[in-house]
Amino acid sequence: SAFAALGLAQPLLNAVADLGFTQPTLVQQAVIPKAMQAEGTGRSGAQAFTDLMVSSQTGSGKTAAFLLPVLHTLLVQMEQQEAAERADWERQQAEAAAAGQPVPKRAKRQNPLLARHFKPTVPGALVLCPTRELAQQVANDAIDLVQHCRGLRIANVVGGMPYQMQIAKLQNANLVVATPGRLLDLQRSGQLVLDQVQFLVVDEADRMLDLGFADDLAEVNRLTAARRQTMMFSATFAPRIQSLATRVMREPQRVQI
Ligand code: AMP
Repeated sequence: SAFAALGLAQPLLNAVADLGFTQPTLVQQAVIPKAMQAEGTGRSGAQAFTDLMVSSQTGSGKTAAFLLPVLHTLLVQMEQQEAAERADWERQQAEAAAAGQPVPKRAKRQNPLLARHFKPTVPGALVLCPTRELAQQVANDAIDLVQHCRGLRIANVVGGMPYQMQIAKLQNANLVVATPGRLLDLQRSGQLVLDQVQFLVVDEADRMLDLGFADDLAEVNRLTAARRQTMMFSATFAPRIQSLATRVMREPQRVQI
């Protein structure tokens, strides 16, 4: 499909096909290759990916435009880690066999929901939304897109959900979709560690500022600053959005559809 030409991993292409998307929308065509492009920035890790400032309206397909490249990179990283773990285990087996010792059993992954004490969740990606409704919608879109990606977990963090349920739902999430208030509550109480976030998306940045989230955004920026790619989506590029962009991004490319 035309999505395959964008270089996305097969499980994501399968999901896109299941959803009935045949052609990437304009904003998807513009954003997905740019977001996955690491050459020329002179930086390493997720920092190597270009920061993007995108103006786009609801209905343009912007949600998949930021979710697909982020999920693609998380998936590739997870597959690399699994391959390394498998190789390590195979080496242990070969060594045991050569030494005539019993072959060690492979450690089983625990189901985190059965654990007596929840461990803090350390997501690799974070999407910030101005409202509970939007966060719910973005999280649902992400769940649709990872339906063929074994082991990639999505969590939705919004005010209003009972705290214990929220913590249980958060467990082991790779991608967290959140409104800023509840996100920072969970961070302050130690349930959520944000310093491994490699991908930060600020959706509807203009509404985020309208709703008074500027200080929360600054706090998230500080907590996740170490090594990340940032994408900001906004209906407008008003001066206050430009000034937010200079604070949270490095030499962002502008995409205007
Ligand atoms: P959004 O602008 O992200 O709110 O998306 C608007 C609607 O377009 C959503 O219902 C998506 O499921 C749908 N959509 C997103 N990308 C595509 C595509 N490439 N082809 C068809 N529909 C799409």
